[in-house]
Amino acid sequence: PFDVLIVGGGPAGAAAAIYAARKGIRTGVLSDRFGGQVLDTLAIENFVSMKETDGPKFAVALEEHVKHYEVDIMNTQRASKLVGGKLIEVHTESGAVLQSKSVIIATGARWREINVPGEKEYRNHGVAYCPHCDGPLFKGKRVAVIGGGNSGVEAAIDLAGIVKEVTLIEFGAELRADAVLQRKLYSLKNVTVIKSAQTTEVHGDGKIVNGLSYKDRNSGEVKRIDLEGVFVQIGLVPNAEWLKGTMELSAHGEIEVDVRGMTSIPGVFAAGDVTTVPFKQIVIAVGEGAKASLAAFDYLMRQPVE
Ligand code: FAD
Repeated sequence: PFDVLIVGGGPAGAAAAIYAARKGIRTGVLSDRFGGQVLDTLAIENFVSMKETDGPKFAVALEEHVKHYEVDIMNTQRASKLVGGKLIEVHTESGAVLQSKSVIIATGARWREINVPGEKEYRNHGVAYCPHCDGPLFKGKRVAVIGGGNSGVEAAIDLAGIVKEVTLIEFGAELRADAVLQRKLYSLKNVTVIKSAQTTEVHGDGKIVNGLSYKDRNSGEVKRIDLEGVFVQIGLVPNAEWLKGTMELSAHGEIEVDVRGMTSIPGVFAAGDVTTVPFKQIVIAVGEGAKASLAAFDYLMRQPVE
């Protein structure tokens, strides 16, 4: 069996693997796609100590750093079930069963998409999902934010301080964000709110975004807005569906962790975007991965001698 088995090979899983391997304990990483979300990212300008890098380069650096140590990497494998116990079992979709004295879950999350023409084509070319990451790229430009829940309204407030104009588009008749956020939003001069609006298409010139169409759900009329950026903010889905009923998850389906990254199952830790830890960022995932790994090592150290 492994001493530490990490499920997920994104920034959180990679950090956990490096910290575990450096303790000289038997470490494995089971991952569907080593690198995680950063593989889908272009410019990264907020990983502290690196002024600028890009996602694929960052992913290669993660893998090289992990491979520098003795880590058993099992790639293109998906975990489908976890069973707690003195030896914890992780089952894979392909039917294998791995055993480990401790497990760190770092399966990340995925942005919910609007699924309209143009969204995929212009992803990273005007279509963005993370205002903390990509907001500054739209300095002085016009953007839309899709989604009037807390994350959409927070994104619109944040972006209004950077870009020229923000149009917030909400599908329902009312915004769903907290009242205090809505008051702040409506106080901003460069924000327009459009409600009862269904986004139907993201337009572009073949290279970058230049507009967006939406259907007015009251009149049925389709309208077009000229702009340079679209931020989709209709939810982040944690990759924790496979753990439902196994451990405590939040109302949003995130793994509940304590300050050490411990889950509700002894010996099972979690880190990064899949957890309740706020603010989904690489630098945070890396820190949380390191923390969960040190917590797992501490847990192992305290197990009774056989
Ligand atoms: P992830 O990166 O999501 O990695 C999860 C890992 O788990 C992957 O290896 C995946 O294949 C694996 N996995 C999932 N399910 C299973 C399973 N059942 N079994 C086995 N393996 C599984 N953050 C920044 O700080 N700066 C940025 O500029 C930035 N830009 C971004 C741009 C885009 C387009 C996106 C999508 C995100 C961006 N982010 C950015 C956010 C950042 O990428 C995430 O916060 C970070 O990758 C989270 O790391 P993680 O390790 O928790 O999860």
